[in-house]
Amino acid sequence: MWEKLEESGAGMKSPQEIMAIFKETGALLQGHFLLTSGKHSAQYMQCARVLQYPRLAAVLGQALAGQFTGLGVETVAGPAMGGIIVAHEVGRALGVKALFSERQNGEMTLRRGFTLKPGEKVLVVEDVITTGGSVREVLALVRAAGAQPVGVGVLVDRSGGQVAFDGLLFKSLLQVKIEAYDPEECPLCRQGIPLVKPGSRS
Ligand SMILES: [Zn+2]
Repeated sequence: MWEKLEESGAGMKSPQEIMAIFKETGALLQGHFLLTSGKHSAQYMQCARVLQYPRLAAVLGQALAGQFTGLGVETVAGPAMGGIIVAHEVGRALGVKALFSERQNGEMTLRRGFTLKPGEKVLVVEDVITTGGSVREVLALVRAAGAQPVGVGVLVDRSGGQVAFDGLLFKSLLQVKIEAYDPEECPLCRQGIPLVKPGSRS
């Protein structure tokens, strides 16, 4: 199946193709899950499971990069950890540099000698967003350096299309709304489907 996905190659991917990649790599699981919040859900998302396949990471990076051509992007930036591989692959596809920000004492910063020039056009990327908090911190960092954010790109938008970034161009490859239930109101419990804690062996 990977061969087929790789052959279909660069550029636009339909949401169905993207969804297939996430499901077949186990990045989007269907079942009955106990979330860290204590709530239950019918789906569970773990983007690292798709990004562990470099060739698929490249396919997704190309698909996302294809949404931001013609903007003169000079640098792709993403927050650690989720944004590192995505920034790398989108940067590769656009032929520009890629860097990542990370938290130091709770504050998003550029370390490791990464710098942004005044006016530098920066595309901010992330693997999954729910509220977009980390992306906003990176945008603030980019602006504080005097650089210019030109867009935000994510593999998966879990906000159900609710998130926006001050009118910036915002694109996602996949929109997934994962419903979370209180245990006493969970329809999956009522159906007697066994509850699974994601990441645990069973
Ligand atoms: Zn349940």
